[in-house]
Amino acid sequence: MKNIISYSSLPKFNLITPSSLKEALELLDQYQNKARLLAGGTDLLIELRHRLIQPKVLINLKMIPELQTIRITEQELKIGAVTPIIEVLTIPIIKEEYLALYQSLADLADEILRYRATIGGNIGTSSPAADSAASLYVLDAKINISSLAKGQRTVPINEFFTGVKRNLLTSDEIITSISIPRPKKGSRSSFKKMKRSSEDLALVGVACFHNEKKTCLSYTAMAPTPLLIDITDNIVRERKELDEAKFRDIWDVITPILRPIDDIRASKKYRMHMAEMVTRTILKEVLE
Ligand SMILES: Cc1cc2nc3c(=O)[nH]c(=O)nc-3n(C[C@H](O)[C@H](O)[C@H](O)COP(=O)(O)OP(=O)(O)OC[C@H]3O[C@@H](n4cnc5c(N)ncnc54)[C@H](O)[C@@H]3O)c2cc1C
Repeated sequence: MKNIISYSSLPKFNLITPSSLKEALELLDQYQNKARLLAGGTDLLIELRHRLIQPKVLINLKMIPELQTIRITEQELKIGAVTPIIEVLTIPIIKEEYLALYQSLADLADEILRYRATIGGNIGTSSPAADSAASLYVLDAKINISSLAKGQRTVPINEFFTGVKRNLLTSDEIITSISIPRPKKGSRSSFKKMKRSSEDLALVGVACFHNEKKTCLSYTAMAPTPLLIDITDNIVRERKELDEAKFRDIWDVITPILRPIDDIRASKKYRMHMAEMVTRTILKEVLE
């Protein structure tokens, strides 16, 4: 295992604080791989302290108002990437329409950290255990991205993560916002995670979404990237009650897709056991 040294100081870098998205994109275009984007810093500062990265320039996104706007239309909820998690939790329709997202963010670390950490930073780190990811997967979120050279593009979240702490952003791109479609009336969602303490990452995270047309589950910490599993055929078409036999049929579909690892926080076997328990509980809750 690679030894990680945690230094008490940060490496030297230039901190630049643009006040508009245009200015930030120009800076990123100029410095490319020599720069890193700083939002809340709750992941980035640890990487700097461990010298896992040593950028020449940090581009601070926290003073750009357009990256912190929240817009609700008939079609979607659009959340600026640099919106602190604590503010996402106060969006008026979040509990009613996006319960899974609310539950995943309300359980992310502790209250102090939720004031600093941003939703875009949680996606930007691209950890397989990112709490917002499972709920954003089942809610069919899209990631809006900008760069000076290519303009804007939008990608479905389940195409964004490409590996452990890897994503499809190029070195000149910024996540500007996250768009989530308004769910149809009667839709239900939920998120649950197992962890060792309030400041720990998920050992397993599970989100579920269900309405008359679609039922899907998403898992975090169960593979190098979050996973989306559509079980509409097993649930909606057959319309049978979720008894143990029915659950076993669904679990047989899910098991081969999950690829958890053994690590310092939990064994592969324990994660599979937890995933099974949480899946049974969440399906019962959402399908009730
Ligand atoms: C004690 C502790 C407990 C934690 N607990 C949890 C937990 O329970 N669940 C969980 O999911 N996470 C947890 N985390 C991880 C972290 O807090 C979250 O991932 C947080 O959401 C990161 O957001 P940030 O704004 O601080 O990102 P930053 O640290 O500023 O950035 C993170 C990464 O994303 C990139 N980035 C940031 N914004 C953008 C953008 N707009 N466009 C492109 N790239 C961007 C940065 O360059 C960097 O690579 C914890 C961290 C700590 C220190």
